[in-house]
Amino acid sequence: MENMRAHFKKVLLSSLLAAAVAALAVLAIRVAANPMFAAAAAAPSRASAADELQAFAALQPVDTHVHAFKSDPAFTDLLARLQLHVLDICVADTQGIYGELAAQLARAKGFVQASPGHARLCVTFNPFTFQQKDFAQDTVKQLHQEFAEGAVAVKIWKNIGMEIKTPDGKYLMPDDAVFAPIYREIAAENKTLVAHVAEPSSCWQPPNPASPDYDYYKENPEWYMYLHPDHPRKETILAARDHLLAENPQLRVVGAHLGSMETDVDEIAKRLDRYPNFAVDTAARMEYLMLAPRENVRNFLIKYQDRVLYGTDLEFLKAEATPDALKDWQETYARDWKFLATDQTLQLRGRSIEGLNLPEPVLRRIYHDNAVRWIPGIAASPK
Ligand SMILES: [Zn+2]
Repeated sequence: MENMRAHFKKVLLSSLLAAAVAALAVLAIRVAANPMFAAAAAAPSRASAADELQAFAALQPVDTHVHAFKSDPAFTDLLARLQLHVLDICVADTQGIYGELAAQLARAKGFVQASPGHARLCVTFNPFTFQQKDFAQDTVKQLHQEFAEGAVAVKIWKNIGMEIKTPDGKYLMPDDAVFAPIYREIAAENKTLVAHVAEPSSCWQPPNPASPDYDYYKENPEWYMYLHPDHPRKETILAARDHLLAENPQLRVVGAHLGSMETDVDEIAKRLDRYPNFAVDTAARMEYLMLAPRENVRNFLIKYQDRVLYGTDLEFLKAEATPDALKDWQETYARDWKFLATDQTLQLRGRSIEGLNLPEPVLRRIYHDNAVRWIPGIAASPK
């Protein structure tokens, strides 16, 4: 009896040991093969990027501000894996950051078609022809067609307010009467206007290497208003934007880039209080939220949890290598998640930033619900 029990124990122990060894071996193979597991193994005490992306994906997130003009199955896989929906935004820019408008639109449509159910189109129109006799009528016709083909939003860009001039030498502003029929059409079709109006305040200020936009203005001096004091002041342009909001109460407007009020959430709050048809996206301005006083930003996001849409300004361009873009997109999503959803510490511009640790219902709104409500059709499944 005694011997038999001992024998049993021995067999049991050795089979348990064998199972444990086998499990460890499998784990080792996974760790070696998968960079996500490798990251977790390297920093066991902290959540890994893989954990952050998993939590992000669980909310069925919507990125309401991307510029994707290339198609690649690896990218489609990423959208599926992250359960991610994106709004792919076209920009009417003569300097061709994303290429000539028709070609850009064709590439954006290619991306949307290659990402079934995960991407929707935000079209635009050429504002430079605003003096042509049938400008508004033709634009309305064009948008009507784009909406019928599935576009869910229309973008206006900073060239309105900062670049295009009227014949009498004034700057064309976003509330100009010439755009009124266009705004009416967008509202009538229950679509959304995405308005990138004006720029960060640093655009009008002396160069400051500590500013998140320092490099942009160094590389794009034509947009650096500090060098062009003859151009409109920021306050003038934002006043025209506010007038547009007041004049078009039926038009949903998403102010891109925190509505260009990136340094002061109280300024955003004032507009949100005043204009119920206005919301903002966080695109390319998350660093400003990180650098601002934590409690201010946290209280603002909780109070206005129905009015802030998650957006990044991430790009996927024709000339770009897909693996680089995949890495960039995932790193950005992981970083933003860490900031908004956790109490972990991030390093930014030599400073330690404590995560906002926002309550789950607030995260749900910012990452998903608000996008669905402010941009109807963004996350609809394909027919
Ligand atoms: Zn953008």
